[in-house]
Amino acid sequence: MTDFILTNAVLRNGDAIDIEIRDGQIDQIVSRGEGDIDAFDTSQRFHADGRLVTPPFAEPHTYLVTANTFSGLLRDGYEMPRPDRFGVGWEMYDDLEEAGMLEPKSIVERTSSQLNWFLAHGVTTVRTHVDTSSRHGNKLVEGLLELCRVYEGVVDVQIVGLPLDSLVRSNAEVEALCNALDAGVDVVGGIPHKEATREDGVEHVKTIVDLADSYDRPLDPHIDESDDSYSRFTGVLASEVEKRSLDTQVTASHLTAMHTYPNAYADKLRGLLARNDISVITNPTTNAELQGRRDDYPRRRGHTRVDELLEAGITVGIGQDNMVDKYHPYGDCDPLGEVLFLAHFGHLTSWYDVPTLWEMVIENNASILGLNSGLKPGNEGSFVLFDAPDSYNALRTRAPRRLVVREGRPVTRRELGTVYVRTNEQWESVDFAVSV
Ligand SMILES: [Zn+2]
Repeated sequence: MTDFILTNAVLRNGDAIDIEIRDGQIDQIVSRGEGDIDAFDTSQRFHADGRLVTPPFAEPHTYLVTANTFSGLLRDGYEMPRPDRFGVGWEMYDDLEEAGMLEPKSIVERTSSQLNWFLAHGVTTVRTHVDTSSRHGNKLVEGLLELCRVYEGVVDVQIVGLPLDSLVRSNAEVEALCNALDAGVDVVGGIPHKEATREDGVEHVKTIVDLADSYDRPLDPHIDESDDSYSRFTGVLASEVEKRSLDTQVTASHLTAMHTYPNAYADKLRGLLARNDISVITNPTTNAELQGRRDDYPRRRGHTRVDELLEAGITVGIGQDNMVDKYHPYGDCDPLGEVLFLAHFGHLTSWYDVPTLWEMVIENNASILGLNSGLKPGNEGSFVLFDAPDSYNALRTRAPRRLVVREGRPVTRRELGTVYVRTNEQWESVDFAVSV
């Protein structure tokens, strides 16, 4: 932890400010020019020159263990299946096992570069899901726990135990999830819609609610990630939370089936979610790729009802999901890529949606992860500085992150080249900004 001063930065609301960080915490935020710059060493100062500053990003939904495996699989001569031929879910790690990519050492090496990508984009907390199936023993969790130790104080990693094998066919899978929680997994996950029957899915939901209750951990299952309008386990989840007065943070990840629900049921579910303070995470790019694969035209594009959920007062966060793996070969760990995609995909392209989109990716994601990371005195002295004058231009251009500071210590810096174009023999710089 250390001291740092950022001068002449611009908040999302347009206020020009200086930020003073002392002992790793925000000491004060004052109007531009009022910061006590002389109280800081020259190595602890940065002049923002009118650029946008925000709190750090928090990534609420990704898979570190499978990340960056796409090219390795192809190199080994792997025949990549079409996304609709991937199977029911719990086989997704088999090919990685065969390729030797699931040993803890391999996981740490591969996912370190992934965390570096996140950090370069200003993400300082990452929630990752990991398969806890008994077939892996505890080695996937061990790899991630070692990663947590390597990145301690730089990128915080929250691990969600995701039981990809059935929780109701064998008690061994419940035990395996408990072992993972005992070993240090932070959050209880689940995937009830992959169970064989509706009844099994309901039992799956009850089991994970029991575990969240007994371990007093947050609950964040994959749920209703399907194009099947009869996949309705989020309602069961909300009902169980309500009946037990469950006092832990509950998040419904994906919920793509809501896209397909009849309006009457979607309306009922919104009420249940709002009443029980259950958050939702949408994962725009991966679900655009995975959903609708069995459709003829018109083809559903697989996202939940983001606009309606927001209107109902439900906290909706934006995740990046799979990254450079067989499910989603693209992605670069930049949250703004997902935000821009959602803006188009979810019809959130009005000028008045710009603040909403930023609120989703900053405040809602932080809230879902239980963080208190806003730019205000007493909070963690961390921020992201964009190479853009305001939030609209930063989003529109996916502006480079110029500087990321964590608890008063720079953890990302970017040295930019300037782009010039020549017209009429004159070279002039291009910054891609639009005056607003
Ligand atoms: Zn997911």
